[in-house]
Amino acid sequence: MLKDTNCGELRLADAGRTVRLAGWVHRRRDHGGLIFIDLRDSSGLVQLVFNPDNAALHEVAHRVRTEWVLQVEGVVAARDAATVNPNMATGEVEIIPGACTVLNEALTPPFYINEPADVDEQLRLKYRYLDLRRPEVSEVIKLRHEVVWYIRTFLVERGFYEIETPTLIKSTPEGARDFLVPSRTKPGHFFALPQSPQILKQLLMYGGFEKYFQIARCYRDEDTRANRVAEHTQLDLEMSFVEEGDVMALIEELYTGIARTFGKGKIAQTPFPRMDYEDCMDRYGIDRPDLRYGLEFVNIAAPLAGSGFQVFAGALQGGGNIKAIRVPGKADMTRREIDELTEIAKGGGAKGLAYIGFAGSELRSPIAKFLTADEIAGIRDLTGAADGDMVFIVADQPEVVARSLHAVRDTLGDRLGLKDENVLAFEWVEGFPLLEWRPDEERWDATHNPFSGFKEEHRGMLDTDPGKVVARQYDLVLNGSEVGGGSVRIHTRADQVKVLSLMGYTDEEMQDRFGVVLDALEYGAPPEGGVGMGIDRLIMSLIGSENIRDVIAFPKTSAGSDPLMGAPAPVDKAQLDELGLRLIEDPARGS
Ligand code: ASP
Repeated sequence: MLKDTNCGELRLADAGRTVRLAGWVHRRRDHGGLIFIDLRDSSGLVQLVFNPDNAALHEVAHRVRTEWVLQVEGVVAARDAATVNPNMATGEVEIIPGACTVLNEALTPPFYINEPADVDEQLRLKYRYLDLRRPEVSEVIKLRHEVVWYIRTFLVERGFYEIETPTLIKSTPEGARDFLVPSRTKPGHFFALPQSPQILKQLLMYGGFEKYFQIARCYRDEDTRANRVAEHTQLDLEMSFVEEGDVMALIEELYTGIARTFGKGKIAQTPFPRMDYEDCMDRYGIDRPDLRYGLEFVNIAAPLAGSGFQVFAGALQGGGNIKAIRVPGKADMTRREIDELTEIAKGGGAKGLAYIGFAGSELRSPIAKFLTADEIAGIRDLTGAADGDMVFIVADQPEVVARSLHAVRDTLGDRLGLKDENVLAFEWVEGFPLLEWRPDEERWDATHNPFSGFKEEHRGMLDTDPGKVVARQYDLVLNGSEVGGGSVRIHTRADQVKVLSLMGYTDEEMQDRFGVVLDALEYGAPPEGGVGMGIDRLIMSLIGSENIRDVIAFPKTSAGSDPLMGAPAPVDKAQLDELGLRLIEDPARGS
């Protein structure tokens, strides 16, 4: 080894030791006589001190520049009290080198590595290997490693097998677009990269393994949005002979452990609250509410049933509803803030945002004059508004109320500083509908995946009212983001065929796309279920980052390209020929 000690591990107790170090010049300060170099390796930094007495060594120290690679042999010395650096883990010692070899030189990096700098992301990604040298960047990647290690240990201790599944497969049904890989040996045929190992993990259960997991890469060719990436990593897990509660309990124990071990924040509530989908939609307008704060919706339709105020009356007559959010102590919100919230509500489809500020005997409200005293008293009663509180109201079709008022609540959460980074609010959401209607295609579609089981007591409704059938699905939400989900699966061919036919598949299409599962279900498939838990999102939550690229060693840009390797890239004609592919010259598609 070129080194026998890690820079960042040296402490006062090491004083007097001779050590061999190797690493990068993190910072160099030339004080005329003394030259100080902070040497950095993967463990951290230690200070080297070169004094002019050793002319040859001093000359080397004079010549080196940041990011040069050095090997140093030297003695660990205690620093005098006056020069101890309490901000540095190794700040009580320094190294007096006896030998120093330049292992490699370096060009001046295109951005600072030794100080947190606001560097253009494109540039950071193009030189990712330099960006990774920045301690604040590498620390996150190391944290990710530790979390994954924790997950592996936890599951292996509980009898799970880590099993790899192939990545050149046939299309999997997660509802996104597939990435396709053309086959050379079978021209005109394609592999798909897995959107998840869903089918394969079910086959592992049918194969008798009972407990499987994998840290699996999943590919979904979606138009990239903030924090959606083409390839993501999930903890993919499946268990036989389980019910919903068994999988949820396991994941809850794992995530509680992870949050306690690695999270900066405190878990808001254990056991994690379990919420019903309908209840979530009713109280928060969304199926993944951020429970770090309240601002719940209140249905105020009852006292307004006979209102003469056209906006309210019209909404109710048209089958809509009226909901409110009470904001404590905010009756005096500025006009500007109210206008901003109104725009946000409109973004969700609402025609406007009504409000009533309860300020003493005065009402601050442009709509109060259209309401009777009883109606106002009814609103106040239901929302529990006290003096000084503000009440925001949206009246419209239920989906519009949900969307608009959720957007208002979310914005208030930000503006009022209610999204405490030190709180980790987990909740389970259950009770999702199994199917949702696609009006454009005139068919039902799975809300999650087509293998999710349904509540036995709803079996009869598959024929009469499929939209009311509830899935055996559970999603885990953390601070308003879905961090994973799964279900207990269908385990008989008859049930699977039933659900797929509701989704509009003909027998032939079914056999073509899902034949392997359908056939396997006939050979003694056990009742089973599992989850897919997003690793990227989990790490983001642990470090309080909103940028998915912070938690991936080699991420793509938000537009889905890779500036480091230059991918995607054109290929030679010869390669295309081998694959039997010809490109269409179409300027509109940029080819
Ligand atoms: N296959 C699902 C997903 O990738 C997870 C699961 O149901 O286990 O989202």
